[in-house]
Amino acid sequence: MSNSENQKIDWHARAHALVNAGIDGRAFIDGRRVDAISQLCFPCISPIDGKQIAQVARCDAADIDLAVRSARAAFDDRRWAGKAPAQRKKVLLQFADLIAQHKEELALLETLDMGKPIRYSLRVDVPSTANCIRWYAEAIDKIYDEIAPTSEQALALITREPVGVVAAIVPWNYPMIMAAWKLAPALAAGNSVVLKPSEKSSLSALRLAELALEAGLPVGVFSVVPGMGHEAGSALALHMDVDCIGFTGSTRVGKMIVQYAGQSNLKRAWTELGGKSANIVCADCPDLDAAVRASLGAMFFNQGESCNAPSRLFVEAAIKPLFLEKAQALMASFQPDDPLNEACVMGAIVDEIQLKSVMGYIDAGVAEGAKLISGGNQVASESGGYYVAPTVFDQVLPNMKIASEEIFGPVLAVISFDDLDDAIRLANASAFGLQAAVWTADLNKAIKASRALRAGTVHVNSYDEDDMTVPFGGYKQSGNGRDKSLHAFDKYTEIKTTWIKIGA
Ligand code: NAD
Repeated sequence: MSNSENQKIDWHARAHALVNAGIDGRAFIDGRRVDAISQLCFPCISPIDGKQIAQVARCDAADIDLAVRSARAAFDDRRWAGKAPAQRKKVLLQFADLIAQHKEELALLETLDMGKPIRYSLRVDVPSTANCIRWYAEAIDKIYDEIAPTSEQALALITREPVGVVAAIVPWNYPMIMAAWKLAPALAAGNSVVLKPSEKSSLSALRLAELALEAGLPVGVFSVVPGMGHEAGSALALHMDVDCIGFTGSTRVGKMIVQYAGQSNLKRAWTELGGKSANIVCADCPDLDAAVRASLGAMFFNQGESCNAPSRLFVEAAIKPLFLEKAQALMASFQPDDPLNEACVMGAIVDEIQLKSVMGYIDAGVAEGAKLISGGNQVASESGGYYVAPTVFDQVLPNMKIASEEIFGPVLAVISFDDLDDAIRLANASAFGLQAAVWTADLNKAIKASRALRAGTVHVNSYDEDDMTVPFGGYKQSGNGRDKSLHAFDKYTEIKTTWIKIGA
């Protein structure tokens, strides 16, 4: 623990006070907190101890319709889209500042809601959210439109315009960050946004909406409508007055989202989906200790609930024993603990359903004959929460369930290889293509592998580089489009050509 100020915070006491004071789980539509029209709620259960911490509005098609109407009205009268980019920037910077000012409250909501360690909610999720909003705010008044090189008799302007009403539908693993990756470019570009958070993690998004209003975002420009995927989510994706969906979630639901777009108004559907990322460690890896640290660190960060977790580890047979020996020595540092303890680096699995799913995959790995060399069990069940020991399977074959399906939990599959071309072929023999890595001291091998790997991001001799300036997204069934970087504006803007005839 480096921050002495944070050391003093008694997170248990804070959590107790927050829950006792009552966490507001009402929707945020048209600039105010409201109950679902049906008056229905669903319980928000903390995975830390299995206890209810709030009731959340169970919105459905009627609430979605209200939010979309409000977003449309805000877009049509240009109360936001019509502001100069520098004005939008000012409001968004204020929004980012407010997020930073409320970092402890937001971090606590995130940890209580989905079980990630408070140290990471506070040091990663909240600052990354604020940083993302700041980054797009800073970008928007520095981007110029174009004039096409046409003939002297005409002027062809190529301008970017906001698409209109954007639906953001996001998952529970990084609730605020995933929301920010959609919100920030969409709002900066002048759109109105209706956000549907995951039913497993609605609380921080609702609070973000309040902070955005406080920052000066006009009413209606940003609403948050919590609810079930098959109710609120599908109603939003099917809505005839939504122009664009920014979806992050599973490949299964991503396919439905694209269908909803086709069944309704052919809205643009951008999907950021699942992964089963391949991490290839060659025998000539320049720094095996770094490779072990990064491979396990990226795998077990966020309880393994990361879309880009390097969950398929290909290790060249000659160094596998040494790699696994070094890995075993590190495993103790990833053991689950109470997420409200500042020292905790591995928290709770998001809910009981996900816990059972992860345990089911572990059982399948054993049944299919993979060799369990670490973890494999549920821990701290007496807490009432959902904790799984970080798990490593060796001697995994590429066609096993644990090597081919996304587990979205702390389970690593180790596969050995003798020939890099074989490893690349196996790495690419996946429905997914989100990320990949190759570890080698040979520049030619590194370049050939990074060209051959069918993934949106390829790391060379690393797995933990990250920056707002680079796009994030996948090939194949890991989705389309890119979050982050200036490329995200492509999703939330239309390109308009205006021909102006020049008289003689
Ligand atoms: P999910 O697909 O179950 O849910 C995602 C969102 O979609 C939630 O808000 C959910 O309520 C909603 N939803 C569910 N059914 C719906 C329906 N029929 N219509 C409309 N909306 C619906 O995914 P999850 O379990 O929340 O998240 C985990 C998945 O997200 C993993 O597959 C992970 O890899 C992926 N993910 C991808 C990225 C990326 O950038 N590629 C980032 C984070 C997570």
